[in-house]
Amino acid sequence: MNIPAIAIHGGSGTIVFDAKNSELKNEYLKALNHALDEGFEMLKEGLSATDCVCKTVMILEDCNLFNAGKGSVFTAKGLHEMDAAIMDGKTLNAGAVAGLRGVKNPVLVAWDVLQNTPFVMIAGEEAIEYARHKNFKFESDSYFFSQLRYNQWHEIRGDDIMKLDHSGEGAKFGTVGAVAVDAEGNVSAATSTGGMTNKAWGRVGDSPLIGSGTYANNKTCAISCTGHGEYFIRGVVAYDVSCRMEYGGMKLEQAANHVIHKKLKRVGGEGGLIAVDSSGNICMPFNTGGMYRGMKNKMDSFTRIL
Ligand code: ASP
Repeated sequence: MNIPAIAIHGGSGTIVFDAKNSELKNEYLKALNHALDEGFEMLKEGLSATDCVCKTVMILEDCNLFNAGKGSVFTAKGLHEMDAAIMDGKTLNAGAVAGLRGVKNPVLVAWDVLQNTPFVMIAGEEAIEYARHKNFKFESDSYFFSQLRYNQWHEIRGDDIMKLDHSGEGAKFGTVGAVAVDAEGNVSAATSTGGMTNKAWGRVGDSPLIGSGTYANNKTCAISCTGHGEYFIRGVVAYDVSCRMEYGGMKLEQAANHVIHKKLKRVGGEGGLIAVDSSGNICMPFNTGGMYRGMKNKMDSFTRIL
């Protein structure tokens, strides 16, 4: 057993770094290291896995390098619509939000839905009303604006193309997620995203869907996914990994690798996931050119891009 432990991601995709943007690469690594260190400290101080993944995802939402909270991608109408989810592997309770606009930290609202409502998921205008009613912090459009993401949207706006926030020439700004196992062996997962550039008609991806982009169960593992959401929804990816462990007797690594490298790949689904089990085993498979990711436990700590 190697607990507590935490893993995080900042999105998967084709990541191109060269001499021109090596500074940016360092900024990404710094941001990942900061979130990892804070998250692991929380676990060491005895915080529950659920509290820890929520607060760690908040740190990533507040960093405009990633496509979640501040720095979220643009929709076809030039807005920012954010989705988030959190799941507690001990109780199997979950909370999720979709289509939030203006809310500084969508993951906090998801956490509130888990704790204070009989629902699992709330969406759209009324979910925004709920966030206002509960006094969550709102920010103006300028807070969410990022020039790079604006340029990315500008390239394809008006087209029907819905683009993964991280596809295309060296551009890579991903969904964020955290999975953790606390000192008591409880696992939890949280994911937050601005979705895909140029998304329209209230499109919601896999991130806030329990079982697709986010899942946690003490019996198996906690998972947060990143990638082309439609494939992760159809493949019920996070739950598939958990089921392979629970019913198929697979170990975490075998189950996660099979789903990412075989099942998803076969149908053209691009992306990756981070996962941890209750013994502290971590795996982070991806079938794209790279994935911003990192892990930390008492023995080991690293952040990587490719
Ligand atoms: N999975 C997210 C979505 O489809 C995108 C991402 O991971 O960057 O909304």
